[in-house]
Amino acid sequence: MSTQLQEFVSQIKICDTHEHMWKQESWEADKPDILSEIFDNYVLADFVTAGLPESDKERLRNSSNPDISARFQSVETAWKAIQFTGYGQACSLIAKKFFGIEEITCHSLVQAQDSLPIQWEAKDRLAILRDEGGFHHIQTDDSSWECIRDESGPDFFLYDLSWATFCSGTFDLVSLREYSGIEVRNLNSLKIAMEKLFSLYGPLAIAVKSQHAYNRTLVWKERSEEEVSPLLQKRIKGKELTTEEKNCIGDWCWARGVEHAIEHNLPFKIHTGYYAGYNRMPINFIRAGNLCPLLAKYPKARFVLMHISYPYQEELIALAKHYRNVWVDMCWAWSINPHACTDFLRRYLHAAPINKLFAFGGDTYRPRAAVAYSIQARNRVVQALKKEIDNGEITEKQSIEIAQNILQNNQLECFDYNGRIQALESEKCKIE
Ligand SMILES: [Zn+2]
Repeated sequence: MSTQLQEFVSQIKICDTHEHMWKQESWEADKPDILSEIFDNYVLADFVTAGLPESDKERLRNSSNPDISARFQSVETAWKAIQFTGYGQACSLIAKKFFGIEEITCHSLVQAQDSLPIQWEAKDRLAILRDEGGFHHIQTDDSSWECIRDESGPDFFLYDLSWATFCSGTFDLVSLREYSGIEVRNLNSLKIAMEKLFSLYGPLAIAVKSQHAYNRTLVWKERSEEEVSPLLQKRIKGKELTTEEKNCIGDWCWARGVEHAIEHNLPFKIHTGYYAGYNRMPINFIRAGNLCPLLAKYPKARFVLMHISYPYQEELIALAKHYRNVWVDMCWAWSINPHACTDFLRRYLHAAPINKLFAFGGDTYRPRAAVAYSIQARNRVVQALKKEIDNGEITEKQSIEIAQNILQNNQLECFDYNGRIQALESEKCKIE
């Protein structure tokens, strides 16, 4: 039975706070391939952990091989084992919504491939996301410092300024010179180069972002210039640094990034919790609680802690409740563990301020996958809030207000969407 809440959530334009969305050139260069459309996303990791050899996984996503049947047959047993995971369910959603496939089988895939065009329509990248996906705008981390107007949708495709290599202490000195025009010779010139990056790209970015939890612990310590300076010299001379030395430089650069983010009125997004991929996650690196010293040091920052820090989501609720400068982003988490997210939303609602929660980011590069992940999120948001209504804890009217906030309003406010769009507009005027 359709409810007002369900109707509302299915219609609302979602502010999508995290993607790695393809640029227009990548979309146009992509060869239409049914198996890549359905499976070239996070689910590949589930295939491998289910026991599929890596070579079969690679063959599945290899769109230059036209033998759909052979590519799928070798993964079919593993697919049976993973079709019910959040990633697996998203594959079925893509298949059904975009290609009319009710059940993923060799036969249905071969048939679907036969009806694909030779090339995707250029306009479809935006149309799939904006019109079919119902997104208000999307925020993309393309792992670069540079943030410029995306002419394929200037108020739709917004970009994060990536601080990941700084936080890891592994930034490339040659690229830094190219992008900032500054030759780094010491700590002072490194500071100037960072300032330059922010003055060039800060005004056009939607946020600063770092996923250094993939390379190092999220534990942060304050570092003095005396500690960092000799290590930077060692790096400049091309010598190998130990993990602790890299973390020392990383902590120092991370702190400068936070300071610049405050100055430029940019939220600072941090990957916390679960890893993409397989066979490499050190579980202690990733917990959001590791960030406490940083959160306490910078009360004026707006930290957006991503992916509900899964499996440390309860810890994250405590941080959002305790620290004024912590916002919580459920991006990607619905597909990592759908039930954990439904539960998380309900627990968060009764523990922490609801104006600091963002409900969605797909965290993917293919438009159709992003849409499928958003359908998962919409369905689960309804499910979670419906349970709250049934429990007598909120009314349906209140559930609609909550949905409005977590899917749209909170993001517009925290990221100062209108202010950012104005900055991009005035940049256009400058160029013209
Ligand atoms: Zn991501």
